[in-house]
Amino acid sequence: MKPSKLLWLLGLSALSAALGAPPAAGPAGRYRLPSGSSALVYPGSQGPTLHLLSPKGEQRVAWTRSGAAWQATLLGGEQLEFRPDGASLLVRVRPASGPARSERWKASPVRVPVSLAVLQGQGAFPRVSPEQVRESVREVAAQLQAVYGPIGLSFVLAPPTPIAAARVDLDGDGRLTKEEVRGLRDHLERIGLKQPGRVVLALTPAPIVGSGCRGWTLGDSVATPHTLTDLNDNFSIVNMRFVKGHHTVPHEIGHQFGLDDLGRENRRRLDLPQRTDHLMDSGGEGVFLDPQTLLHMHQVTTHPDLGLAGRRTAIVAPPAPREAAAPAQGLGAPPSLTLRR
Ligand SMILES: [Zn+2]
Repeated sequence: MKPSKLLWLLGLSALSAALGAPPAAGPAGRYRLPSGSSALVYPGSQGPTLHLLSPKGEQRVAWTRSGAAWQATLLGGEQLEFRPDGASLLVRVRPASGPARSERWKASPVRVPVSLAVLQGQGAFPRVSPEQVRESVREVAAQLQAVYGPIGLSFVLAPPTPIAAARVDLDGDGRLTKEEVRGLRDHLERIGLKQPGRVVLALTPAPIVGSGCRGWTLGDSVATPHTLTDLNDNFSIVNMRFVKGHHTVPHEIGHQFGLDDLGRENRRRLDLPQRTDHLMDSGGEGVFLDPQTLLHMHQVTTHPDLGLAGRRTAIVAPPAPREAAAPAQGLGAPPSLTLRR
């Protein structure tokens, strides 16, 4: 919930710059190798990076550009040279010894469905025009793709569902309290818009919770220390004023993927003590994601239980009989990579 300070004053061009994208569009994305391993190619903080994940382990190497091709040298001396070819990479592999071979690495993005709801003003609740809605949706799509596309996520946005503000703003004061936001979350679940395995985002023209709150993400059921245990079953609300020019949307969606705020007491629980990403830095700047965070997200989005692709079941613990005390910052507990069963 803690607002992020940074304005993207320059919009998405600044976003690309902050991501450290190479001047020429590199072959960022997630690829499946003939061996069954997978590879992430993404713009890292120190330059473009190739991250190979195989049953034998992981390795991360920098790649360099040479004309139309990119080159990387793996541990053990194996050299790779790859060229983008449509949605694939054509890869020439030169082992330390023996003959070279050619491989085609096929792009395999994880397609993430996104459910959108937009609160429609009435009474004291601010109004929103159809054009504002369209512009916000365009911006949401562009930001999600810009931030998470390089790790192989592809977002499929459903047309936004209008929600009458009177259904949510129960006291009619033109703003949403925490309880009213929880009520909205439950309403979206009842009407089938909020479902496991989706990113769920509500946009509102009205203030949320407290002054300065740009967005809030909360999990399924009542808020408990395990609120974000199920990484696939969360919900974010963002004040539409903070869509364009801010990193609020990808920040909150980061929470839906299991990333917590930096600088918070729970950051160690993610087992990523060296995380230096900026996207999840409360009050921080930019959208840079640390390679460890990227790897974590790759695991989150591809793990059979947790993954947005290939999810087996929606395993959600029953609601606690009584609502536990909300965490101090209201965001819920550290996400865990282990689902309760
Ligand atoms: Zn946050």
